[in-house]
Amino acid sequence: MKSIKDEIKSIDLEAIKQRVNLLISTNKTEPAPEKKYRCSKCKDEEWIIKEEDGQAYAIPCECQKERAAERLMRSSRITPEFQSKSFKNFVQEGRPYQVIEALKAACNYVKDLDDKGIPRSSIALLGRPGCGKTHLLMAIANYLLAKSTQVLYFPFVEGFNEIKANLDTLETRIYQLQQADVLYIDDLFKGRREITDFVIEQVFAIINYRYLEKKPTMISSEKTIAGLCEIDEGIGSRINEMCRDYRVILHGGIELNYRLQQ
Ligand SMILES: [Zn+2]
Repeated sequence: MKSIKDEIKSIDLEAIKQRVNLLISTNKTEPAPEKKYRCSKCKDEEWIIKEEDGQAYAIPCECQKERAAERLMRSSRITPEFQSKSFKNFVQEGRPYQVIEALKAACNYVKDLDDKGIPRSSIALLGRPGCGKTHLLMAIANYLLAKSTQVLYFPFVEGFNEIKANLDTLETRIYQLQQADVLYIDDLFKGRREITDFVIEQVFAIINYRYLEKKPTMISSEKTIAGLCEIDEGIGSRINEMCRDYRVILHGGIELNYRLQQ
């Protein structure tokens, strides 16, 4: 953790004066309407200007980390493509029974909600790519979102790229992933490169927390339970237990891959 002092940035006093003058001059032509700030401490600037011995400093406001984390959330927001995925437009015809099993599991999953509309369990669709795992989990997410249940979407590869690029918000981000009412992790442990200890540590922190708190988690992965355990036994065994009622593993050959058949 960086200390506050390390984060303090010196700002040229002249630049601040110019900025204030600019604000005053724009205000002359059209008086700004009463503005409500989300953060009254920094007036939504995310920095607080302090002066000491004629020297001005900008100190990061306490709202800054929260806002940075929010920006990350927005960048992994649910796209129109995501929103279009439903149970209705999931093609069943001519697909192997395993894929139909996955569809049934997904349909049963959304029937098993508590009185707040939150699933009572976790779900894992694992195995071969191109079998509609992502389509089905997106359909569940859309179903839940339509019921105003909070679903946090975390595409594994992009999500970790963002985390690594913004390490100062790591704690906040992991906290959000732990706390979300429903967390959807798409393509867990995807990638050709070796999974680093850093990634394993963060995934364990998220999965272990949600396992202990019995928070519903939706997971798609090309890895099987054995494959997940090979990466980290603690993660694999917890996912296995969390998802024991809704766990479909799509084994089998290339014939399961719908994308290749089209
Ligand atoms: Zn603030």
